[in-house]
Amino acid sequence: MVFFFFVSHLLLLLRDSKMVLCFCGNVVVVRTSWTSRNPGHRFYTCPKMGSRCGFLGWVDPPMCQRSTVIIPGLLRTMNRYEVEVGQLKMCLLAS
Ligand SMILES: [Zn+2]
Repeated sequence: MVFFFFVSHLLLLLRDSKMVLCFCGNVVVVRTSWTSRNPGHRFYTCPKMGSRCGFLGWVDPPMCQRSTVIIPGLLRTMNRYEVEVGQLKMCLLAS
């Protein structure tokens, strides 16, 4: 718990200076989560892909419950329409 508080406090201090370091000592990158639990939620993470650093800090405040239901639904609808548009384009090119 103390460790979590320390990391959170450190993140707040470093976020204002626009320089957040991971446990490896590298400047973190900001990525966006597309999991069903945190859709569209940005987070800080280690810049090394596949690293065991384990650093994670949320950029955005916690999401409301409703957005965790609505955003995945919108993404599914958008993906379905993109597939449909692709199929229609193929039909037009074939005709
Ligand atoms: Zn790291």
